[in-house]
Formats: sequence, C-alpha cells, structure tokens
Amino acid sequence: MALKLDKQGQLLVMTPLTTRVSELKRFVVTRDVWIREHLAQYKQLQETKLETLGQSLWFMGEQLKVESLVGVKNGIDHTPGLITLNSRQPLERAALDRRLMKWLRAQAELALPACVEKSSQRTGLHGSGVQIKAYTARWGSCRHDGLIQLNWKLIQTPPEVIDYVVLHELSHLRHFNHSALFWRQVGQHCPDYKIHRKWLKDNGRLLISC
Ligand SMILES: [Zn+2]
Repeated sequence: MALKLDKQGQLLVMTPLTTRVSELKRFVVTRDVWIREHLAQYKQLQETKLETLGQSLWFMGEQLKVESLVGVKNGIDHTPGLITLNSRQPLERAALDRRLMKWLRAQAELALPACVEKSSQRTGLHGSGVQIKAYTARWGSCRHDGLIQLNWKLIQTPPEVIDYVVLHELSHLRHFNHSALFWRQVGQHCPDYKIHRKWLKDNGRLLISC
C-alpha cells in the first residue's frame, strides 16, 4: 500500500483491490505523521501562492510578475520579467510589500545618481549633488544650491521618462522657473519631452502614491 497527496490536496491510498477496509484504516493510522507533515506543507504552499496571486511590480517601465518562494534562503532575485522573493518562512502580504519597496528603493539609490551623472556629461549641466528622497506629490526638484533631489519611485517609470525628469531638474540650474526659455532648453536635449511628460501625467499618480 502507498500514500500520495495529489495537486488538489487530496489524500490517495493506493492499494490492491482485495485489501480489507480494516487493513486500510490501520495503514492510514500508521502514516499519521507523514500525512500531517504533507498536509501542512501543502497548506503553506497554497497560502504562499494566494499571497502573490496577481501581484506585480513596475520596474523601469516594465511590469514584473512577483512570486514568493519559501525555502532555504532570504533575498530577492530579479530575472527578466520576474521578481522572486525568497524567504525562510511564509510572509504576510504586508511584509512582502515592504520587502519589495525596500528592494525598489535600493535599485533607485543605485540607478538614479548614475542617470544624473550621464545626463550631466551629455548636457554640461552639473549640479552640486544628488539626493534620493521619498515624495508623494513630485518626481524631483532642484534646490537653489544646485542639489538635485529625485523621488525613488521614479525607478518604476521607463528609462526615457527617468532621463526626462533628470534633464528637467538639471535644466533648472540654468532657468529657475518653467519659462519658455526653460522648456526650450529641455527640448534641445530631449525633443520628445512632451511625450514623457504626458506619460507621467497619465500613469504617474498610481506609481507615486505607493
Ligand atoms: Zn520644474
């Protein structure tokens, strides 16, 4: 006789046709520990699956699927189209979300200063430094002392939108307003800026409120 737990969580007993019910019952009782362990594992897996069902994450303009894996390690893996959250024990939705946000912010801290540097090289507009911040109503700002401040949530938007926001803030180093001269300068370095500005208007509210 043998026991099996199928994909639907049903317990199957494989037995010769001639087995008596009393024998069957005895067999199942002796496998008590095995059954409990496997049912617990099954339940855990189901909960983990439910936790991440339909969840996704915007990263550099791409919608990544999020999956949660309970196993031997902690940490986040990013492969094309997919974010895998590894944890040693099942996490609640709120904890998963916190980890994802922390990961996104870390990516922003790495990538956004590099975007500013690249844009400065290209345009000759150099600020006094870069700071990554959390804003709920703006994507960036340029301080009077030349410090460029960027919202970490920008990391969710497409690379060309990030470049536009960076260029926008750097352009304030020359024009501390939104005058026609300011927009002419933005347009010189980024002819498609109106498209990117519209993208932010259409999609930004959802991303910035996270
Ligand atoms: Zn501005």
